[in-house]
Amino acid sequence: MEKIKQIYEGKAKKLFSTDNPDLVIQEFKDDATAFDATKRGTVLNKGIINNKLSEKIFELLAKKGVPTHFVKRLNDRDMLVKKVEIVPIEMTVRNIVAGGMAKLLGLEEGIVLKEPVLEYHYKEDKLHDPLINEYHVKALGIATDKELETIDKYSLKVNEELKKFFDSKGIILVDFKLEFGRFKGQIILADEISPDTCRLWDKTTKEKLDKDRFRRDMGNVEEAYQEVLRRIMDI
Ligand code: UDP
Repeated sequence: MEKIKQIYEGKAKKLFSTDNPDLVIQEFKDDATAFDATKRGTVLNKGIINNKLSEKIFELLAKKGVPTHFVKRLNDRDMLVKKVEIVPIEMTVRNIVAGGMAKLLGLEEGIVLKEPVLEYHYKEDKLHDPLINEYHVKALGIATDKELETIDKYSLKVNEELKKFFDSKGIILVDFKLEFGRFKGQIILADEISPDTCRLWDKTTKEKLDKDRFRRDMGNVEEAYQEVLRRIMDI
């Protein structure tokens, strides 16, 4: 499958059309941004690592009954995916307090939540992806009742499966962000799942193995992403 034309460039990925109108190619870049792209940089080989990690995770989730846009990984940086209409919600799932939730509620990072917290953020960079609730989603027609029910159900399922999976690799899944899309009338998981979109802590040392190393200038960003890849691929 060949790239025909670039149709979109986001912060970490580019999208290309193909000769099949139902399929697009997402190319993973090394560019990294944080704090609404006010902080910019590159992490060497990040695109290659995130492409492989996303492949592995999408395959796992498909086996567990969560439909995804993943079709196949084409090469180091390119992944063939179904062309979806993205639902403009950044779905955040949290198991442990960190990042935005710690700030919003004045909580220490690391508090273990009694049950997972689902948060909807309206996907609009200019507004800094504001936190909204299910009433906003429905009243504004961002998604239908039925779509939201499916999105919640899949989000909790992804959390259960990935918590187990990462745990078996000595990693705590603290929180993560998902995006869903519409494909032929169905809701499917889209975007990527990687250390750019998940907070991952080493189970023993609690060392951060994710994008917080970039956000907080902690160094060894590439090394941390490589470590996640190494553990996930059992290499
Ligand atoms: N996240 C993301 N993209 C965003 C915002 C957040 O992938 O635009 C991920 C982030 O990496 C973390 C989770 O979603 O794993 C929760 O992020 P949070 O709301 O705490 O925001 P942040 O602290 O990243 O600003």
